[in-house]
Amino acid sequence: MKTIKTIEDMQLKQDELHKEQKSIGFVPTMGYLHDGHLALIKEARKENDIVVVSIFVNPLQFNQASDLEQYPRDFERDEKLLIEEGVDFVFYPSKEAMYPNPLSIDLSLNQRGDVLCGATRPGHFEGVLMVLTKLFNIVNPNRVYFGLKDAQQVAVVDSLINDFNFNIELVPVPTIRESDGLAMSSRNVNLSTYERQEAYKIYQALLKGQKLIKASNWTRQRVLDEVESFLKHTLSGEIDYVDCLTYPELTREITEKHDIIIAVAVKYQNARLIDNIILTPSGDVKYRSES
Ligand code: AMP
Repeated sequence: MKTIKTIEDMQLKQDELHKEQKSIGFVPTMGYLHDGHLALIKEARKENDIVVVSIFVNPLQFNQASDLEQYPRDFERDEKLLIEEGVDFVFYPSKEAMYPNPLSIDLSLNQRGDVLCGATRPGHFEGVLMVLTKLFNIVNPNRVYFGLKDAQQVAVVDSLINDFNFNIELVPVPTIRESDGLAMSSRNVNLSTYERQEAYKIYQALLKGQKLIKASNWTRQRVLDEVESFLKHTLSGEIDYVDCLTYPELTREITEKHDIIIAVAVKYQNARLIDNIILTPSGDVKYRSES
């Protein structure tokens, strides 16, 4: 595996690879890799000649300085994992390389951005849109891999690709969980022992919502009440949001034709956790991981 640190080198390399008719699968990450990231990489490995992973903790998408500071980092450990997965290139730029000058253009969302993390983390998706637009132009991939743990991000990337005509296929990958059901996240290391022990209940709450939808005769409000009341009674963390929306449009008017997302965010002392479940109109799980 080769580590590439400059934008120029990455652009030269992808240009060379495209001239050789090689397909490029790209997995953007913020590092501190876990099995969730590795699932994306494995998928990319199956479907492309070349796999590029980026590791960049994007300051623009953090709306709290403390969250950015506390974000775990360990490039040497990540490098070893990437080598084991047979990754060809890791793009590891500095903040100065990515943002050398104040930006003269802003990107913002007209749709899919005013709910969930878009509502509770002002500026977050604007930062995501900016870094991904830059990374897509730098890496010029044929396919990009994103995890459904960040389902709103997948919906936003879908809009970005369509609105800006990126010639890129978006591949969503199901959420990878710990054995007790907690969604894997780089932020989980910032949980206290007590918080970690109870955090699996976030997924249990989502399953309670699913049960209601499967039993039919449900309403959006009943799902919200059920999930929120379970979380309130079983978690010490603060509920940031609970919502139930159409997916991927992320609107509140759910008909029998819509796929449905139930999504939650919980704030702990040093980590904010998000999780979701995406269901077919009849309440079955829409995306399942193979493992
Ligand atoms: P991050 O490093 O947190 O920005 O995540 C990089 C990519 O990995 C994003 O597309 C995430 O959605 C994805 N990802 C993170 N955690 C998981 C997980 N538990 N299962 C599947 N994908 C994940």
